[in-house]
Amino acid sequence: MKIVHIAAEIAPIAKVGGLADVVYGLSKELKNQKQDVCVIIPFYKKLKKSFLKDLKLYKKKLIIFEKNRYHKNKIFLAKLDDISVFLIDPDKNYFKRNSIYGYKNDQERFLYFSKAALEFLKEEKNIIDILHIHDWHVSFIAPLYKECFCKKLTVKKIVLSIHNLEYQGLCKTTNIKALGYNGAYFLEKEKLQDPCKPKTINLLKGGIIYSDKIIPVSKTYASEILTKEYGFGLEKILKKHKRKIKGIINGIDNKLFSPKTSKHLKCSYDSKINLDKLIKIKEKHKQLLREKLNLNESNLPIIANIGRIVYQKGPDLIIDTARASKNDKYQFVLLGTPFNKKLEKEFHKLKKDEKKNKNLSINFAYDEKLCHLIFAASDFVLIPSKFEPCGLTQIIAFKFGSIPIVRKTGGLADSVFDIDNKNISKNKKNGFVFEKFNKQDMNKTINRALKFYTDKNNEFYKLLIKNMKQNYSWEKSAKDYLNVYKELINN
Ligand code: ADP
Repeated sequence: MKIVHIAAEIAPIAKVGGLADVVYGLSKELKNQKQDVCVIIPFYKKLKKSFLKDLKLYKKKLIIFEKNRYHKNKIFLAKLDDISVFLIDPDKNYFKRNSIYGYKNDQERFLYFSKAALEFLKEEKNIIDILHIHDWHVSFIAPLYKECFCKKLTVKKIVLSIHNLEYQGLCKTTNIKALGYNGAYFLEKEKLQDPCKPKTINLLKGGIIYSDKIIPVSKTYASEILTKEYGFGLEKILKKHKRKIKGIINGIDNKLFSPKTSKHLKCSYDSKINLDKLIKIKEKHKQLLREKLNLNESNLPIIANIGRIVYQKGPDLIIDTARASKNDKYQFVLLGTPFNKKLEKEFHKLKKDEKKNKNLSINFAYDEKLCHLIFAASDFVLIPSKFEPCGLTQIIAFKFGSIPIVRKTGGLADSVFDIDNKNISKNKKNGFVFEKFNKQDMNKTINRALKFYTDKNNEFYKLLIKNMKQNYSWEKSAKDYLNVYKELINN
């Protein structure tokens, strides 16, 4: 089957969050399962080229019409492991910037990329079985193909993965017009008109309406997004297209996330480790982390939080837990990058207020090395999300031997099962879960986790090893995707 993934990110060369991990892990596993897979992404200035092999110019000139002018683009081709990655490099400076997102004209940038990707595929003249698009950035590809390209390029079916419904890509009809298409035509209610702002184009809505299949990244998230609470205004449209929706949970790539092969860890280990050795290695990594982050030497357990600092991830709950570390019940380590000014201010204030608290370390960085050390050294990873489409942090925590404490939502609900829940079989129990998005419920759950750590220390380490043995590789989820593809092609 010829499968083309088009996305804004792919790990490890262009990564902001989980989207990158999924595009990489899924493509790699589909390739393992003998499919003909390639990926198209923009050629970012900050691409981590060292991971690419055989990077070469593939096409000298692809012409794209935008804003009344013709623009030149180069297409590069490289191998990322076994995956062929095409990189679109416009002459204009849409991607020659320091970050992947965060610019006023993000919509313009990714609309341009969407059009360029389709133009490129058209010129390649291949027959594509599955065109798999990810999130709002490239959602316009679905309507654009069906309305404007379908006579010039053969794509059998289009699949849209929804990694996060909060980001929808709102823009103006003029942005569509700039590409040479009739903006007003797409603004209709049955097309891309935003359900809340009638004069606004909603790119993700376009993906939802025009795709043949919609894959939210976990089963629970697939049902949550049909509700007002989680639907971000698109719940009615999603309900209308319910037949096309199927939740598939993400896996993680065993090469990118393994304490056995990680280049960033002093001691390597995996699920075959015995209890005594694990305790020693954990202590070693804790000592290294405490030294590195200038934390008190201590026997206290370490709770960590790693991720983008955004409202979705429960920043108030995180700040509360961070501050309470001064009560000497645990140490708290945060690694994250704030994605908005208000949160940036709040977290900098936290860091300043707690300057003397040596049970707390706040780190504003995107740092894979430190990230691996934190996963290996911490006892618990706190994920108090308001919503979480899938979440990879809890799965990485399992692999590295840290126990997730999570709010029951989305992929967290599908992968973390509470130790104290009598309705869950012993075999499945793997973490701590609270239901209500509030401090009381979270604190009660953190206290249960800390008690489990102190009272049942051997049980704690046995649980770490049991959790490491869980299989969250891409193999199963990629098979689920493949079944979806096959069903689509055969119908
Ligand atoms: P989201 O996609 O919402 O950002 P996920 O849990 O799905 O959250 O995926 C986050 C991914 O990004 C994980 O691989 C996580 O380890 C990584 N990550 C997030 N923040 C950082 C950071 N500051 N430094 C290093 N890795 C990070």
